[in-house]
Amino acid sequence: MDIGNTWKDCLDFIERKVGKSTYDLWFKPMKLLELKDNDAVLSVPNRFFREWIEDNYPHLISEAFEWVMKDNINVMFRIEQEPAAEFVRKDANIRKVRQAGKGIFLNPKYVFDTFVVGPSNELVHAAALAVSESLGKTYNPLFIYGDVGLGKTHIITAIGNKIADTLPNANVIYVSSEQFTNEVVSAIRHEKMSDLKEKYRMVDILLLDDVQFIANKTQTQVEFFHTFNALYEKQKQIVISSDRPPKELSDITDRLKSRFTMGLIADIKPPTVELKMAILQKKAELHKIILPDDIVYFLATKIKSNIRELEGCLIKLAAHSNLTGRPINVSLAKDVLKDIFTDELKPVTTDNIQKIVCEHFGVKLPELKSKKRTKEIALPRQMAMYITKRLTELSLGDIGKAFGGKDHATVIYACKQIEAKMEKDEEFNKTAEYLINKIKP
Ligand code: ADP
Ligand code: MG
Repeated sequence: MDIGNTWKDCLDFIERKVGKSTYDLWFKPMKLLELKDNDAVLSVPNRFFREWIEDNYPHLISEAFEWVMKDNINVMFRIEQEPAAEFVRKDANIRKVRQAGKGIFLNPKYVFDTFVVGPSNELVHAAALAVSESLGKTYNPLFIYGDVGLGKTHIITAIGNKIADTLPNANVIYVSSEQFTNEVVSAIRHEKMSDLKEKYRMVDILLLDDVQFIANKTQTQVEFFHTFNALYEKQKQIVISSDRPPKELSDITDRLKSRFTMGLIADIKPPTVELKMAILQKKAELHKIILPDDIVYFLATKIKSNIRELEGCLIKLAAHSNLTGRPINVSLAKDVLKDIFTDELKPVTTDNIQKIVCEHFGVKLPELKSKKRTKEIALPRQMAMYITKRLTELSLGDIGKAFGGKDHATVIYACKQIEAKMEKDEEFNKTAEYLINKIKP
């Protein structure tokens, strides 16, 4: 086996998943140093890279190996350059070890202490605190929604960490809805459904992240519905996050949606400039990065709303400054972050349309471009074609090509289908407008 090629295939997989600019910034600099006995050792330039990747894409690299090698690979990092000042993560490490002993796996850094509160997220913050102080009694379920990168995973994890810290015997489960779906699928395949039921019905608090991904997954929804009812009856706490409010969750059954509205629905809005500045200062302090005021303002105004991106810029700057010895200032930021800044101004691309549509409907990009004609795939494909037609200047033939070599008649047909459906179906119309707004710069 040629490890160079293996790694190249993994990188291709990763690039397709995260997009070019994230890939160039974070993944391209990594090298595969060793690969044996199902252990892979990757080199990363410094600790910032490792932390950023562990926080933002904890499973992506193993998924890439699994896809390329059809095998489970354990991924480890070796840091090329250890900075002189050791980064202190004592609290987080202690928490992690203590929780692991109880079978709880939460990101130890996502706690209330590190969550900065401003007008855009104070409602969610207050609700989350209230829930963590009286489980199952105040708002049940707590349903949190907001755009990507605004702190949903952070705040729901903070609830879990607080419970695990204050109630040593509480059983806390955090699960993404994708992971939950995988568990359901695997339980069905291995006839282990009763184990799965038992696992989820024994919890004191269930944190279900990104519930939008169970759209279209009928069996997962059935299972979650029963779990929900069982927990709710026992007054166990349920916290759900989503990228949109319950009523806009298309392809999730009404009975489940109505369950989501039984407690409190709270949204996180895009942050104000002041909140972005406060978050940057907090993150700089946590990472022990010296950050002049002018750069704080510069970044907070340049990065539109995604806090993950804001933090990514900060870490990237620190990583660069660390490698090159240049101080962190506006001129370094302009050099290092130029990709990100131009990204924000880029016109609409088919790649981006396809990515957003795939995320919304929970289908994979290769499926979208495939010849499959099942409803689950055909509808998102038609929607993506329709949006491409509406938002770009591409010819019908070029649109067809961008969707795995379809002809222009297919694109016309797709647009007609979508337009007809939008006219008849108010809910569907909303979904289309929602997606278009999300894609438009
Ligand atoms: P989402 O789940 O909504 O996509 P995350 O919870 O993953 O977003 O947040 C993205 C990043 O931004 C995380 O590193 C998180 O710590 C940080 N973040 C988001 N909101 C805040 C906040 N109010 N204070 C501090 N950090 C935040
Ligand atoms: Mg999240």
